[in-house]
Amino acid sequence: MNTHETHSTLTQAEMPLMRHCPLVTCGQEVKRGERIATSSTPGMGDIHTPVAGKVAHVDTFRIRIDANGDEQVDPVSLDDLSGSNLLITLLELGADLPQVNTTETLIINGVDAEQGVLTRQELFISSRATLERGLKTAVALYNPQTTVLAALKGTAQTLDGANTVDISEQYPSGLDPMVALAVTGREAPENTVVIGLETLFQLGRIMETGLPIMETMITVGKEGKIVSLGTPVGQILDEAGEVIADRDRIVLGGVLRGAAAASPSHGVGRDTSAVALVNNPAPVAQDAPCVGCGECVRKCPARLDPSMITSYAEFGMYDKAAAEDVDVCFECGLCGFFCIARRPMLQYIRLAKNELALAQAQSGEEV
Ligand code: SF4
Ligand code: SF4
Repeated sequence: MNTHETHSTLTQAEMPLMRHCPLVTCGQEVKRGERIATSSTPGMGDIHTPVAGKVAHVDTFRIRIDANGDEQVDPVSLDDLSGSNLLITLLELGADLPQVNTTETLIINGVDAEQGVLTRQELFISSRATLERGLKTAVALYNPQTTVLAALKGTAQTLDGANTVDISEQYPSGLDPMVALAVTGREAPENTVVIGLETLFQLGRIMETGLPIMETMITVGKEGKIVSLGTPVGQILDEAGEVIADRDRIVLGGVLRGAAAASPSHGVGRDTSAVALVNNPAPVAQDAPCVGCGECVRKCPARLDPSMITSYAEFGMYDKAAAEDVDVCFECGLCGFFCIARRPMLQYIRLAKNELALAQAQSGEEV
């Protein structure tokens, strides 16, 4: 695998929002690095524009900016910050960091869980110094008794200051709850923080530059690329020599957990691990009723009943999905993969989680 650090010219950036509240309006001029949306979810960082220019579009799901000029925000000095002040500043600068009171074990998940996604492996190769800087910052933030790097078995990956634990390549062993299980013996252990390797990269980049997060590592084909956030996925495929044909789908992420991009102008977000073109015109899921075969229940590694959860979500009964512990779902995608009716299982699960999170945020605002 090769890495290319690309900073292709962006004429337009489209920043996907993940339950963020926009801070800009159409027609507003913004500097590169300016904060354009703030997070409404604990532990999720804010969003900043990777280009200077004029805001062209704002809605619940995206902010689009037409690039124009090169004015940039000033770097922030982080040297004198520590504890909660440092955490709040890092969240404001776009790092995704769990907010917890006590941390006994800090686990860095360095495993790319899905086949075809090689982003974390590539970060080890291309950005080791940045990762080490990020780890020092994470340790200063969480002050854990033990720090563990979860690494894919056979790769011999290490990070200074962390004990390495080998993780099987068998899916879904690399997902956070399964990694926590391998390290601590429990899927959701108390006083344990699990963060992905890309979060260390984000932390390292912020500490190196004093600037907010404006780039990320993604997998395109068999290559790792550091790209600007907001880069249209169609542009990434075009630069990789891929031609989008009729009925092709652009998939963000891996085959089991990925989602289709709404259009080639869809921008890369912090949660985008891969961009791929899928040429199969057959639908991967369809609006079909559950036939009660029970296959999804047998395959669920979280020991849930995905058929019940998704049936509740399908009809908007989100409180009943919550009672079936939808929040415990790892989002591994195995229920949808094995569903003989090809129901959109993961989509229903994400819908229920999203609606429940929105309801919780709204009830918090009303208190
Ligand atoms: S995605 Fe489906 S199979 Fe995977 S943990 Fe969630 S409910 Fe279980
Ligand atoms: S695998 Fe699909 S059809 Fe079978 S019980 Fe689960 S949801 Fe229903």
